[in-house]
Amino acid sequence: MPYHEVSAIVSTIAVVDATIDIDPAVSCSNCLACCCRLEVMLISDTGVPDRFIEEDDYGGQTMARLDDGWCAALDRNTMMCTIYEKRPWVCRSLEMGSYECRVERAEHMG
Ligand code: SF4
Ligand code: SF4
Repeated sequence: MPYHEVSAIVSTIAVVDATIDIDPAVSCSNCLACCCRLEVMLISDTGVPDRFIEEDDYGGQTMARLDDGWCAALDRNTMMCTIYEKRPWVCRSLEMGSYECRVERAEHMG
């Protein structure tokens, strides 16, 4: 996902956070980490290990992704985040059951 789209999501999440529409029926446990295919921009230092960070020519940092699009920090056996306590702010902001979450699930799970 291009930077401007990620920025738009970040802005949207920040604005609607207080009134976020959560579907309680949605669970990460049956999702196969759909949102871990998104490009994740690093906008603050949460302690993400350097080996998972990619930097562009302008100093912009994102989570490294594998050739198939999944985040490099995702455990492919458990489909869980291996750096959960240090995960980026964007990952913390995408709430389970939120609109953004449901969009990703609909796109990748049908
Ligand atoms: S936040 Fe939503 S899209 Fe991400 S893993 Fe959980 S259920 Fe899936
Ligand atoms: S850092 Fe963790 S939560 Fe964020 S996209 Fe990567 S695997 Fe998913």
